[in-house]
Amino acid sequence: MCRHAAWLGPSRAVSWLVGEPEHGLMRQSYAPRMQRYGTVNADGFGIGWYDGSRGEPVRYRRTVPIWADANLPGLASVARSTCLMAAVRSATVGMPIEETATAPFADGPWLLSHNGRVRREAVRALAGDPESLCDSAWLASAVFARLRAGAPLGDALTVVVRHAAVEDPPARLNLLVTGGTEIAAVAWGDTLFTHLDEGVLVASEPLDDRPGWQAVPDRTLLLASPDGVLITPID
Ligand code: GLN
Repeated sequence: MCRHAAWLGPSRAVSWLVGEPEHGLMRQSYAPRMQRYGTVNADGFGIGWYDGSRGEPVRYRRTVPIWADANLPGLASVARSTCLMAAVRSATVGMPIEETATAPFADGPWLLSHNGRVRREAVRALAGDPESLCDSAWLASAVFARLRAGAPLGDALTVVVRHAAVEDPPARLNLLVTGGTEIAAVAWGDTLFTHLDEGVLVASEPLDDRPGWQAVPDRTLLLASPDGVLITPID
């Protein structure tokens, strides 16, 4: 299982998710506290953020462990945005290790991360043109196809998750998606937490020991906007 995290709120550097918090994604890559599947997340990492100077998000994805990229701390300390996403990867058995299999996946204005596993055939009917054979890339392409058709973030996630869960009941489908102004997330088979202060953090597990982290119940959809957080069951 991978670990992922996103931020929506006042502008912060990517290091706000990665190296700054005591249990940020840097630490979670080798010592996650709540990971149910896998022990380390050393099969690559990715960061994505929105910069006002371009319409699409900027990404940086690597296949090396996050702790092995000596250039990352500098980059993560200056890559700032009101909306951030980052992930560290533990590849599912049989999945390729390549940048195109590494979250965040992107299409136009959207970024997406998947924490889990799904049979690719379970989403084949919805997927467009995945950039990798990785199951997560297929899921991403299915969600992006709905978004391109005009679906709101939450609807796109719900449709794809319901479909995948019917076709592949043991699938684990924790997803994070954003278009830069809202974050939608699904808890489906693994842990998900949220923390609200001046903005909203959504993460596979708490990034630190501050009070206020709330567990997001399994099989729910979380929608975070500047107005707050809404959690609804997916049936
Ligand atoms: N199945 C995805 C992959 O192989 C995600 C793995 C995970 O959540 N550990 O990258």
